[in-house]
Amino acid sequence: MTERVALIGSGNWGSAVAKIIGRNVRKFDHFDNKVKMWVFEEKVNGQNLTEIINTKHENVKYLPGIQLPSNVVACPDLLETCRDATMLVFVVPHQFVTSICKQLKGRIPANCKAISLIKGIDVNADGFRLITDMIQESLGVPTCVLSGANIANEVAEEKFCETTIGYRNRADGELFRDIFHTPSFRVNIVPDVVGVELCGALKNIVAIGGGLVDGLKLGDNTKAAIIRIGLYEMRKFSKMFYADVKDETFFESCGVADLITTCAGGRNRKVAEAHVTTGKSFDQLEQEMLNGQKLQGTSTAQDMYNILSKKNLCHEFPLMTTIYKICYEGLPPIRIVEDI
Ligand code: NAD
Ligand code: 13P
Repeated sequence: MTERVALIGSGNWGSAVAKIIGRNVRKFDHFDNKVKMWVFEEKVNGQNLTEIINTKHENVKYLPGIQLPSNVVACPDLLETCRDATMLVFVVPHQFVTSICKQLKGRIPANCKAISLIKGIDVNADGFRLITDMIQESLGVPTCVLSGANIANEVAEEKFCETTIGYRNRADGELFRDIFHTPSFRVNIVPDVVGVELCGALKNIVAIGGGLVDGLKLGDNTKAAIIRIGLYEMRKFSKMFYADVKDETFFESCGVADLITTCAGGRNRKVAEAHVTTGKSFDQLEQEMLNGQKLQGTSTAQDMYNILSKKNLCHEFPLMTTIYKICYEGLPPIRIVEDI
């Protein structure tokens, strides 16, 4: 059977993986060579971003300077992008998944499989849901997850790194590995969707902590302490809500490695550092510093706090709770070391 891949998302990470997928589908007979990529349409210097991508083969706004393969075709229409796909790659900021799933419900082929590259969780009045569960439940498609120490620009420049795919069904994990694995982007597949996904979502909160420490100029030992305590709270939260999450997952790229990279070089770190040095709000800094890219760590800190406070668990997660309060309740940043 010929598999057809559709990419849902075209930001910084979406564009970096478009480069990988576009090249990889050409290497195997079981993939159609064309990869459609849904672009949330916008004007860049008066021209539609989709038109720029399809003529220059570069996402000049979200991944400038990187050539995309010509078989990656940008499309502004979500339904048209996914109409005949058999493999859906979700790679949008987590706040947009609900509306995307609503639009796709009942309108994708029955034999579809999906993978989520999204780092975040979905919180509603009844509690919280994993993004993979949201996709799986609303679209009725089996859904894997990919997460790792993967700063998009470095991946796009083909600097070596690793990543982790979590699967429920090994055949799906192997199929998705085919479209992602390269000599410089080494994929390991593991049977723990929940563990991989929670690592990716929760590390973004710790990354805010890493940036606060940088802004306060507290040094490397303090940063390492934040990473260690962050990893401990990530594991504790994951196991508290999903008893079968595996300890080994925290040693994969999606676990300890992503925490290290994200606390050294990610956008959450950068904006949190600027919050300390300028005193500006996270929303304002996101607008000023990220050119349309989205912060995930602050909203995930809020989501996490909502879950913990409803269950009277804040005292068991002092780092995550303090980071939330610094982001949303005006707590002075220095409390990151005083309150943990
Ligand atoms: P991004 O932050 O670079 O870009 C934001 C994207 O959102 C743009 O494509 C924009 O067009 C789109 N957008 C804006 N408004 C929208 C709307 N109303 N509906 C739908 N889309 C809209 O995106 P990204 O970096 O590709 O992030 C996607 C996911 O990948 C996130 O969960 C992120 O945590 C994760 N991730 C990012 C990186 C990275 O280094 N950038 C690495 C690994 C994982
Ligand atoms: P930021 O969103 O903080 O840039 O992190 C990117 C990432 O997830 C690296 O693995």
